[in-house]
Amino acid sequence: MKNFIHEDFLLQTDAAKELYHGHAKMQPIIDYHCHLNPEYIANDHAFDNLGQIWLEGDHYKWRAMRTNGVDERYCTGKDTSDWEKFEKWAETVPYTMRNPLYHWTHLELKTAFGVDKLLNPETAKEIFDHCTDLLRTPQFSARGLMKKFKVEVVCTTDDPADNLEHHLSLKKENFDIKVLPTWRPDKAMAVENPQEYRAYLEKLSAVSGVTISRFSDLIEALRKRHDFFAAVGCKLSDHGIEEFYAEPYTQAEIEQIFNKVYGGKELTKEEILQFKSAMLYEGAVMDWEKGWTQQFHYGAIRNNNTRLFNKLGPDTGFDSIGDFNTAKAMSRFFDQLDKDNRLTKTIIYNLNPKDNDLIATMIGNFQDGSVAGKMQFGSGWWFLDQKTGMEAQMNSLSNLGLLSRFVGMLTDSRSFLSYPRHEYFRRILCNLIGNDIEQGLLPASEMKFLGEMVEDISYRNAKQFFKF
Ligand SMILES: [Zn+2]
Repeated sequence: MKNFIHEDFLLQTDAAKELYHGHAKMQPIIDYHCHLNPEYIANDHAFDNLGQIWLEGDHYKWRAMRTNGVDERYCTGKDTSDWEKFEKWAETVPYTMRNPLYHWTHLELKTAFGVDKLLNPETAKEIFDHCTDLLRTPQFSARGLMKKFKVEVVCTTDDPADNLEHHLSLKKENFDIKVLPTWRPDKAMAVENPQEYRAYLEKLSAVSGVTISRFSDLIEALRKRHDFFAAVGCKLSDHGIEEFYAEPYTQAEIEQIFNKVYGGKELTKEEILQFKSAMLYEGAVMDWEKGWTQQFHYGAIRNNNTRLFNKLGPDTGFDSIGDFNTAKAMSRFFDQLDKDNRLTKTIIYNLNPKDNDLIATMIGNFQDGSVAGKMQFGSGWWFLDQKTGMEAQMNSLSNLGLLSRFVGMLTDSRSFLSYPRHEYFRRILCNLIGNDIEQGLLPASEMKFLGEMVEDISYRNAKQFFKF
């Protein structure tokens, strides 16, 4: 496989090779946003086979399989075995050429399992058996894989009502990789469905010990949970939002809106926007008080297929890029926090690539010289997590901000095999810079500085920025 995934994969110039092999490759991984199950780390989960670790919960792969004409039974079905699912995936892989799945699949096979062969129906059995044998050894358990990829820190994604039992047990045990929670209060904002919201409030009330019947109670309960998360080592929050919310509201209005939804009544569109605006602001203030970094993942339209949503639930591969016009609300939101001197370190991730330049200029409005790169433009997310998307994000950031201060890559993944995405990112980064050097757009005489810059973006910037 000399010309495919080889040592110099994606590295088109000598300068790129030098930057990658001399600087990026050996950096540890700080995966500051992912969706790994902390229970798997706490129990050092052993995976049964390659089909299981690859296809359980991976909606990227399911989407490709469905597109390739594979029946749902082999994606999410309960009556098919891991091998049967894997076989259908192997049939699909050759048809994923030019989709990032083709690169990720072979990068994972190569870096985790040393497999040089291409996955297809002919090699499926051999590759499945080889990887499954390895997965059943201790070096390939959840923790084994994290160590193999030199992971230093991971931040999971957790609800305020979560008891963080697995994080606590890892902390107690002094596990040498930091596994920290991330505060993700989406459910505390989801007032669209009064019944579900009321049930969530009851859960939050039970875990916080605060009886919630007014808006101020809700904030008190969240504040207690926020303190608890901080005590367990949390340094980041994250919000999955369609758009930014910064509608004007008064405290009295928010109290009334809360009482209405608490009483089981549906809110108007305007009330929902006002409520979310208040919640986003209150959460941002809590994050500022703790010195956390707040993250915003915005712009997805989720659960587009009602029939399959009803059958399979959320996060099963039926989401897409939205086209919300949110620049003004985004500006108002950050401006209010800045005026109140409550704006904490921030990362914004867009799902629509049309917003790349928008974000790259928006963050510049709120850089205040207190922290290098205080306002960050997040790495290519979800549908943009591929070569084109990463390059576009880094080019926008370079043109309109400072690439050198970028905190770099995160996996945003549910799988312990996704760490090679950091390698993918680093190769793409080194290639971008290497090409510039080759073309005389960056000075070859500054190779030392550029090498350090690559190290910074791969590792050190994140380490200094988040203060884990
Ligand atoms: Zn995420």
